[in-house]
Amino acid sequence: MKSGTRIALHRLDLCPVCLVGFSAGDSCATDIELGTCHAACLEGAPVVYLDTGEPSDGPVTTFPYEPD
Ligand SMILES: [Zn+2]
Repeated sequence: MKSGTRIALHRLDLCPVCLVGFSAGDSCATDIELGTCHAACLEGAPVVYLDTGEPSDGPVTTFPYEPD
């Protein structure tokens, strides 16, 4: 490897829970403190409303990951 070679990782492309990069179409959810994580990685965590922090019984909002 030539000196100066660098591999760039976009910070947002890494799940803060499992530290595995997201792939397009991965089911993701937003943790109130950690930000975007895999939905599966947040399974079992308490669900709260993002705007109020109040506990919720509702289903977790998930969305497919889309790379920039
Ligand atoms: Zn993850």
